Amino acid sequence: MSTGYKQKLQTVPHAGGVFGADVDPGIGGLGGSPDGPLNIVHVFWIAGMSCDGCSIAASGATNPSVEDLLLGRIPNLPKVVLHHPVLSPGAGTEFIRPFRKAVEGTLGAPYVVVLEGSVPDDQAFPTEYGYFSAMGAGGFDPESETDQPNRVTDWLWKLAPGAAAYVAIGTCATWGGIPAAAGNITGSMSLTDFLGKDYRSALGVPVVNVPGCSPVGDNFTETVAAVLLFLQNLAPLPKFDELGRPAWLFGETVHRHCPKAGYYEEGVFAHEPGDNECLVEIGCWGPVVQCNIVERGAINHMGGCMVAGGACIGCTMPGFPDKYSPFYKAPPGSAISGTTSRITGGAIRRLRRMSMSTGNSTPLWDNAGEAPSAWGRESSKNPLLKVNSYFYKKLQYSGSVNHANRNKKQPLPQSRDILRQKGIDMNASVPVLQEHLVSREEL
Ligand code: SF4
Ligand code: SF4
Repeated sequence: MSTGYKQKLQTVPHAGGVFGADVDPGIGGLGGSPDGPLNIVHVFWIAGMSCDGCSIAASGATNPSVEDLLLGRIPNLPKVVLHHPVLSPGAGTEFIRPFRKAVEGTLGAPYVVVLEGSVPDDQAFPTEYGYFSAMGAGGFDPESETDQPNRVTDWLWKLAPGAAAYVAIGTCATWGGIPAAAGNITGSMSLTDFLGKDYRSALGVPVVNVPGCSPVGDNFTETVAAVLLFLQNLAPLPKFDELGRPAWLFGETVHRHCPKAGYYEEGVFAHEPGDNECLVEIGCWGPVVQCNIVERGAINHMGGCMVAGGACIGCTMPGFPDKYSPFYKAPPGSAISGTTSRITGGAIRRLRRMSMSTGNSTPLWDNAGEAPSAWGRESSKNPLLKVNSYFYKKLQYSGSVNHANRNKKQPLPQSRDILRQKGIDMNASVPVLQEHLVSREEL
């Protein structure tokens, strides 16, 4: 399938090595058994500089839902055991224990790490100086007697080598996002900035990036399901673009699938958010932003920015937010594209209205010279309409049978307008109805 873009799709470097003919069953020896594929995969969800919006977005996913993944409802997918700071029932030491086991290499099953939120630069100063985000406490050394909180950044680098895959969810984790915006004091960065471009998981997979602020929940769960199918050797490796985004989800601009794209093409623009028309003149960056929210919907295939009348502010893009600010101001490029659409689209729109007007009349009505509509329909007296229709039909039927002309020879049906023929006065129907009305008092 061609997207019309010169898009660099890449396959994971070591995937062939993992699933080649000489590979042990059970995901390269990381789990499962010689008799069958994996039964269980642990997912460690870690929050860095985050607003928890990604957790909320993921928990609203429907296709597949988080529950589908946790309950193992998808045939042949391993059951996902989720360790989430908010959603897991366990707390304290009980909650942290599996994280520690994963770091120590004693978990006994493969694990995937999901990061929500950006990564602060707190490895730049000594532990005793503090931290920007933390999870659990007591250090990582079993002999340690410290009660200091454990930095999220320590968990991230310690879990990295043994993870089957590392997934960054949301724009903060994928690109840095709002915590990394100009003027921040945390030195926040993306997961790939933190781990470095040479990072590969235990299965040879670079960081998978599912951006969005917040992301479409389905984008995340579908990517996880696709990676799990691949890990089960049931599906080919999903395609990722040169920034590690699932290519099938982020390969198109939001503009191409926007429900308002027709307005843009006809040069009709909104004046304020919520208007029906194209929002480019009030700050929509959709024509240059890779996002699928209008196809997928915000939740359960419903909603999404333009569907709800909101302009795109580029929240899935690495340049967000600084490169898309100030929000709700027309992008400079829209002056050229918008003016062009206004001129060419305006002319095309008028021609289309003429064709629409012709199509809104049956051949019978044309032959009779009137439409039997009591809804105030008026025939257009515009002579241009007839001229346009004449030439349009010439082109439409060239090399074919002119059915419009054939239909002109059809006789008018004799029982047309039967009530008038029978002498029934429709103006009398109101008094007749009134005679049968029962007043509220009579009731
Ligand atoms: S609202 Fe935005 S994405 Fe939609 S058609 Fe207009 S410019 Fe394109
Ligand atoms: S349409 Fe724009 S603002 Fe809305 S989710 Fe997509 S990238 Fe973000």
